[in-house]
Amino acid sequence: MKINNVDIIISAVSKKQYPIHDLPEILLLGRSNVGKSSFINTIINRRALARTSSQPGKTRTINFYNVEDIFCFVDMPGYGYAKVSKAARQEFKFMIDEYVHLRDNLLMVIQLIDFRHKPTEDDINVNNWLQELGITPLIVATKIDKVKNNDYRKNIKQIMDSLKIEDAKDLILFSATSKRGKEELMQILDEVLLE
Ligand code: GDP
Repeated sequence: MKINNVDIIISAVSKKQYPIHDLPEILLLGRSNVGKSSFINTIINRRALARTSSQPGKTRTINFYNVEDIFCFVDMPGYGYAKVSKAARQEFKFMIDEYVHLRDNLLMVIQLIDFRHKPTEDDINVNNWLQELGITPLIVATKIDKVKNNDYRKNIKQIMDSLKIEDAKDLILFSATSKRGKEELMQILDEVLLE
């Protein structure tokens, strides 16, 4: 798939604004600042369609991007920024729950994890919620260019152990800076969209 045309359909503040369409949807989740906007921009070949934010947790909308009329990226607000209250955590859980239950056209969930650090408690919670809903997300480790080669093995193990990933192939190493992992992701998208 070659991606040239991408439009933002809507920045939804509630389920009433979810678009009505048949496009398969790919949900993107990650804690604030994990590099989610950079990931989207890299995949869709844009510099700044998805806003890269320096203010963690500010965007509370769910953004729907129509990609080539082939699929839709659904960008949830970043979770787990510092000082987040228990109520905010519950609200985020509700948001995921509501979205997953309402969307028959949900094809796949991608959870982004910062490769530099151990998955946070929020990362693990979100992963568990998804598993409880019967969803095994594809894990994309971001910012790999910031990790020394020597630490790769250790960091991969850290993520696999925390999120109970059994096969290293289910963990994609990605960098928006070097674009490593982009081809691999495009291949996965091609495969799941063709099924
Ligand atoms: P978001 O809050 O998850 O949407 O994160 P952003 O995409 O806004 O990225 C947060 C910060 O990390 C920004 O300063 C980005 O430039 C930086 N960043 C994102 N991805 C990468 C990456 O792959 N490598 C490096 N070195 N920096 C990255």
